[in-house]
This record gives sequence, structure tokens and C-alpha cells, in this order.
Amino acid sequence: TPFMLDGFETSLSACCGLAIYPDNAYNCEYLMRSANSALNHAKKMGRNTYQFFDKDRHTLDPTELTKESALFKAITNNEFELYFQPKFDAQHNQLYGFEALVRWPQEDGSVINPDEFIPLAEQNGAIIPLTQLLMEQLLNQLAQWRKQSISFGNVAINISALHFQQSSLIETLIDNLAKFDVPAHCLELEITESAMMDNPEFAEQQMKRIKSIGVHIALDDFGTGHSSLSYLKRFPIDTLKIDKSFVKDIDKNEQDRNITATIVRLAKYLDINVVAEGVETEEQAYMLHIMGCHFQQGYYYCKPLKANQVSEFINDTLEKQQSS
Ligand code: C2E
Ligand code: CA
Ligand code: CA
Repeated sequence: TPFMLDGFETSLSACCGLAIYPDNAYNCEYLMRSANSALNHAKKMGRNTYQFFDKDRHTLDPTELTKESALFKAITNNEFELYFQPKFDAQHNQLYGFEALVRWPQEDGSVINPDEFIPLAEQNGAIIPLTQLLMEQLLNQLAQWRKQSISFGNVAINISALHFQQSSLIETLIDNLAKFDVPAHCLELEITESAMMDNPEFAEQQMKRIKSIGVHIALDDFGTGHSSLSYLKRFPIDTLKIDKSFVKDIDKNEQDRNITATIVRLAKYLDINVVAEGVETEEQAYMLHIMGCHFQQGYYYCKPLKANQVSEFINDTLEKQQSS
């Protein structure tokens, strides 16, 4: 209804942009961006109207949005695959577990590595439904291996900082462990220090809840972030993973060697397991071994395997161990 404003007859009209969760975006920031894009379109339509977000008409960065909508579609269609990289116990010359690493297979047969889509998924919030999907896939796989009496040991999955900070993570864990009837000690969550930085109080509670279920916790990429010693004392961490950037030059660079040896000793004093990642050569493996870092992972032992290659790999490893 028109109204008088300072003696002038005035009327208001509204213009509205609409975006729908979760079809158009997985988090608040992107939902608002999508709504804003729809609003811009409504204004162009002559105002006094509303428009729904239409991804074909968006005004955001087109390459990012194409990638983003492909990612959302891939999550809906469950297009992701987990690969498994063995973790070795060099002291006893045996396998002690795996790390699950996500891959995104493409129609043309190529595979997209996580570095190319995990940062985007972390940015737009898709990492949460993606990890829920991967957790379900992983536990389903572990349940199948258990049925086939395949001894896979302890399997780690990477959890992004954003997801670690959600209380829903616990429900996802409890639900899937129960659904697939997998013992909690088979599972380890790999988190980075950034997961603890923003809200250490919440992180501490979260870790205690995870531990109370019986799931293990590993601190990934150790040495690259804050490497806070007080965190090591405060948080119930089972395993430290020494970042591959230190392992890379361990046989050439004295500083890297000293840092690695110090982390290994520190972990021993604190009664925390330590795993070196990115072991590519026999020299690196040997050096780590004499430092007391027996748990190792890297191309020297094995590249990440497809799920259907795992049982053959375990059998081969057992045969080699028995014959040596
Ligand atoms: P990360 O957790 O540090 O995983 C180790 C990465 O090093 C993996 O790369 C692995 O394939 C690679 N790698 C293993 N051995 C060697 C080696 O001897 N030399 C070298 N140069 N590299 C080695 P990938 O699979 O491409 O994963 C990259 C990163 O993506 C991971 O780093 C992790 O941060 C993230 N990521 C992978 N899968 C997931 C997932 O399911 N969820 C989340 N949130 N992040 C994931
Ligand atoms: Ca990792
Ligand atoms: Ca790592």
C-alpha cells in the first residue's frame, strides 16, 4: 500500500533471490552467495519479483562453479572411491594397517586426486557429506574383509578440521560402527593440528568422546603446523605421523634428520606411536628404523591400492614374511 513520506506518496516493492539447501550449496556462506546471485538476476528482471538460483545462470566464477556442481553431483551419485595405502612395521617386517585415501574416478578413465577437490569441499562445506559417505564406504569395506577373514589391522581415514569440529561426527562414527558391526579399534581418525587450534576446549571434549568409543586418533602432518608440545600433553593422541617433507631428505639433510629423530624420541617419552610417511627409498627406511621409527608408510613399501588389490597384497606380504 502506498504511504506518505515527507509529503510524497511512496511505495515499496520487494525483490527476492532464493537458494535452497542442500541443492544449491552445502553451507551458509555458499547458500548466501547463491541467493545473492539469484537476487541479482531478479533485479535484472525488472525488480518487484523473485528468482530461484539457477546454476546455469550464476554470476559466480564459472570454473569454480562448474567444479563445485560436479562435486555436489558426484556426492549425490556416490562416485568416489577409497584407495588403501599399507602401513608397515619395519621392526617385525609385517603389515600393521592401512590409510584410506579418496580418489574421484572420471568417465574417461582418469582419476582426480584429493588435493584437487578436498580444498574446494572444505571451503563449501561439501566435505561433511563427502566424509559421511566415505566413512560408510570404508566400514562397509572393512565388514566385507572381516567376513572374508582378511586381517587388515588398523585402518585410518582423514578427517578435515571443519568436520572434526562438528558434534555430528560422533553420531556418524557410532552409527556406522554399529551398522557394519566393525570393532572400533580397527578404525583411526587422522586429523591435523588445525582441527584443534580454533577451539581447543571443544577439540579436547571431541577427542575424549572419540576415544571413549574406542576409535584411535592420529595427528597428521606433524612438524608442519604449530607442533605444539602442550597439545601433545593435553590431547589423547595415539599416533603422530611425521610429515613427508622431513622424510624426503632425511638421508641428505642433517637438520631434517635431527628434527625427525627428536619427534621420534618425544613420541616415545609420551608413549605415543609414531609413523613416518612418504618413505620412498631403502636408505630412508633404514635411517628411520635405526632412529626407532618402525612404523612406516610410503611408495618404498607400496603405493595406495584399490580395495580389490588389498587381499592379494596381504597374502603376498605374509608369504614374503614367512619365507624370510
Ligand atoms: P595425507 O593425509 O598426508 O596423505 C598422504 C599423501 O601422500 C597421499 O596423497 C599419498 O598418496 C601420498 N604418499 C604416500 N606415500 C608417498 C610417498 O612415498 N611419496 C610421496 N611423495 N607421496 C606419498 P593423496 O592420496 O593424493 O592425498 C593427499 C591429501 O589429501 C592427503 O594427505 C589428505 O590430506 C587429503 N585426503 C586424502 N583422502 C582424504 C579423505 O578421505 N578425506 C580428507 N578429508 N582428506 C583426504
Ligand atoms: Ca593422512
Ligand atoms: Ca600426512
